Amino acid sequence: MAEAGSFADRVKQQADIVRVIGEYVRLKKSGQNFTGLCPFHGEKTPSFAVHPVKQIFHCFGCGKGGDVFSFVMDMEKCPFPEAVRVVAEKCGIPVPRPKERTPEERKENQQRAVLIEIHREAQAFFARQLESTAEGRAARAYLEDRGLNAETIARFGIGYAPSGGDALLRQLKPKYAEKLLVESGVISRDQSGARLFDRFRRRITFPIANESGKIVAFGCRALGDDLPKYLNSPETPIYSKSNLLYHMDRAKEPIRRQDFAILVEGYMDAIAVARAGIGNVVASCGTSLAEPQIKLLGRFTKRVIVNYDPDVAGQAATERSLTLLLEHDFEVRVLALPSIGDKKADPDLFIREKGAEAYIKLLKEAPPYVDYLIARARQMDLSTGEGKQRALNFLMPYVQRIPNRLLRSEWATRIAQQLRIDEPVLRAALNKSATERRSEVKVAPQLVGKPAKQIERRLIRMLAEAEGFKRELAQRLQHGRLYEGLETEKVFAALIVAGLSDEPIPATEIGAQLDERERRVFFEILFEDAQEPTWEEAESCLDALRRRQIEQELAKVQKTIEANPSGAGLRELLERKQELMKQLTAAGQPG
Ligand SMILES: [Zn+2]
Repeated sequence: MAEAGSFADRVKQQADIVRVIGEYVRLKKSGQNFTGLCPFHGEKTPSFAVHPVKQIFHCFGCGKGGDVFSFVMDMEKCPFPEAVRVVAEKCGIPVPRPKERTPEERKENQQRAVLIEIHREAQAFFARQLESTAEGRAARAYLEDRGLNAETIARFGIGYAPSGGDALLRQLKPKYAEKLLVESGVISRDQSGARLFDRFRRRITFPIANESGKIVAFGCRALGDDLPKYLNSPETPIYSKSNLLYHMDRAKEPIRRQDFAILVEGYMDAIAVARAGIGNVVASCGTSLAEPQIKLLGRFTKRVIVNYDPDVAGQAATERSLTLLLEHDFEVRVLALPSIGDKKADPDLFIREKGAEAYIKLLKEAPPYVDYLIARARQMDLSTGEGKQRALNFLMPYVQRIPNRLLRSEWATRIAQQLRIDEPVLRAALNKSATERRSEVKVAPQLVGKPAKQIERRLIRMLAEAEGFKRELAQRLQHGRLYEGLETEKVFAALIVAGLSDEPIPATEIGAQLDERERRVFFEILFEDAQEPTWEEAESCLDALRRRQIEQELAKVQKTIEANPSGAGLRELLERKQELMKQLTAAGQPG
């Protein structure tokens, strides 16, 4: 986040994380670190640690962690630039005065007005193309095939960008400066910078309007098999994907009137639902909902039915969006459409095949989010203790967000029944986690091992910190692909890339590339008390990984032999086995 050389970067270099966090949390020195009671979850014994050298913090209880800026952003609930300013002020670093405001602002406003005008012209151009050119007529046939008639095309401003490559450019060029055309995003510049061309070619165009109905971007779908299937406007001074919901300009009145909104993934879905006579629909136009979009929606209603695609990406997006929506006090229901034949149905397909009536019926029956989540948890493997634990850990963060105690208790009973977990045990775990406001429930800790083995932990620490030999270590791991298949594979991959890079990469940046669970493991390892590593130790860890690799292949060969002892390739297999056993001896004994 803090770009090298930027003001934020300078602040980060100079700021003392212990001092800044120390203003919010009473910290005590403990070994190399400072510890205290976590401000993000209620606790009685400190599990919150700050590392003065690495300039990071991490909570072993709730898993929050990051650098000085992310701490302030979370504490003050403020955006990044504001956090930079707060930290700078706390550390006595002079904040540069904002530039002369009025003339600057006036210029920006003028520029915005021109960009909107360019979009209006582009929109008229695309509509004309669809209407009156030979190419456009082919596109029209395609749309009609998907059930979009002339009335719908006109209502949603659907158009067509021709294949030529500069038709729109020729239209716009006499009127606008090149710089503005490129800035608008409808025109692109090639890599050499010399040539301009139309960004959208041979595509159906969908105008994307901001909340007040001004077109600020286009979403475009390929007509044939061209890739990518969907191509949208880039971020511009008038368009930011995470600030806008498709169809919001028209949906806001119906949303207000009915006091709920339907949230779908793409513009085709939103159009299909709106055409079915359901006006209070908006699309996030991306795989997942962003916070500004939720705030925008929250201005009109606090009730939403999420109807994302039923594929894996859609499910993940649904769950991420749920977390965010619940955090913003939304009442959420989830509509998961049934498959049609063997096809997973998005709203567009479902309405085309089954009709608006059927969709509205399902919409009315859409279950509260907890039912949806229990159904998802039941799809997990519940035959083992570990599997049940995983299902529970999946559910708990959501259940805890139910503010009503009675309701929460009701859900506990249902979860216990549905997942076949002993109810008193579950209740105890839930109560404990509720008082600690933890999102992880420890039902049977003995079932869940440490997330990373000792050797992995040592190697990760060395890769992150052993200045003398981390590059060599990264090369060896990379070369032998020794880390593949490890629990911590992704942590290794990120550290190896960093280790081979010529510039030092801070831990927070590596953490930012990992998903939450991995970042947590990584930060925990960084905070462990550990001795200075030596190359000798590194080599013995590498040997252990090598042995593991050989043993795994050996087991595979052995299995193949046993499965078919009189098979054709037996001789080669036996030879390979011999070879591997020799290698194993050469790799030495563990210890
Ligand atoms: Zn915590």
